[in-house]
Amino acid sequence: MILVNSPFLPPIENYVKKLEQIWKNQYLTNNGPLLKEFNEKLAIFLDISPENISLFVNGHLALEAAIKALDLKGEVITTPFTFASTTNAIVNCGLKPVFCDIDPETLCIDHTKIEELITERTSAILGVHVFGNLCNIEEIDRITQKYNLKVIYDAAHAFGIKYKGKSVFQYGDVSMASFHATKVFHSIEGGMVCYKNQNLKQKFQLIKNFGINNYDIHLCGSNMKMNEFQAAMGLVNLEYLDNIIKERKKIYERYTKYLLHNKKIKIVEFKNETHNYIYMPIILPDDININELLSYMEKNNIQIRRYFYPLTSKSKYLNNYIINTPVAEKISEKIICLPFYYGLKESEQIYIIEKLSDFLEK
Ligand SMILES: *Cc1c(COP(=O)(O)O)cnc(C)c1O
Repeated sequence: MILVNSPFLPPIENYVKKLEQIWKNQYLTNNGPLLKEFNEKLAIFLDISPENISLFVNGHLALEAAIKALDLKGEVITTPFTFASTTNAIVNCGLKPVFCDIDPETLCIDHTKIEELITERTSAILGVHVFGNLCNIEEIDRITQKYNLKVIYDAAHAFGIKYKGKSVFQYGDVSMASFHATKVFHSIEGGMVCYKNQNLKQKFQLIKNFGINNYDIHLCGSNMKMNEFQAAMGLVNLEYLDNIIKERKKIYERYTKYLLHNKKIKIVEFKNETHNYIYMPIILPDDININELLSYMEKNNIQIRRYFYPLTSKSKYLNNYIINTPVAEKISEKIICLPFYYGLKESEQIYIIEKLSDFLEK
């Protein structure tokens, strides 16, 4: 079976070396030496001060922490074309998601439709850099300044990407990263926030550690700390990141080369100055029954994923939400992600394209 995704695993000896350090340090979690080292190395890699980074046990909780740290209230304007995590984070923090339609090219929140959704209850915009395509950062900045709103970016897909020469994590009041095993860069599970205002450093520390500092419980925090085993994997994998992205670029270019012949398929284009090649999304023609395609591919031992589908605005717990996002609706019905991971072979890619074309020609 060709899986849709498969995690990068570094040579095991490299990880064992880090484990030996853990045994020597006798520190398993709670801001241990490997976590501090990981924080420093990430800061260098991203060219951000280590004081502006906080590490988390996963990306989802980092996102919830961002919402809490900014004291958001009321409504948050966001995209329904995302992973469940983004919307769940808003709702878990007691806020109301207000869904904005997406740009048909970048698949990110359509900045031209944000202003009409702003009310006196709006406190923030939560954008997602979908598949590594960036939101219109400048326009969103202009809107948030005009209406005095905060902006958070779910940058789970954007690790390693730069915008105007700076890491994407430098933008927004807070940007969140996910280091989940399925992402371009991972620490098994893990996450990070980068924030503009250094005063948030202490707040994130409290939020992820029960609100405790010096015997006082300063706020109603949680437990969201990254542990030493995760930091160890992150440190090892960071060494391979350039190589991983290079290899993914090759895989991506092979796919586009073969797929361009098929006029029925629309390849989602990437428009940034840099890209991390995190997914291989394609949009299928209207007359295709996607579920039939999925089972056809499955019969041929190929796993395909509908992503993002359904829209998060259709989450069962949100029943009766009135939304009007026709572009997102249409795209989520027709988009799939092809198998894409470090180590995917050219012969496998050819086989995938062959089966896909067979189905489309039927
Ligand atoms: C992966 C992902 C998350 C959640 O990150 P975890 O580290 O898995 O908790 C959130 N948003 C998006 C868009 C993601 O792809």
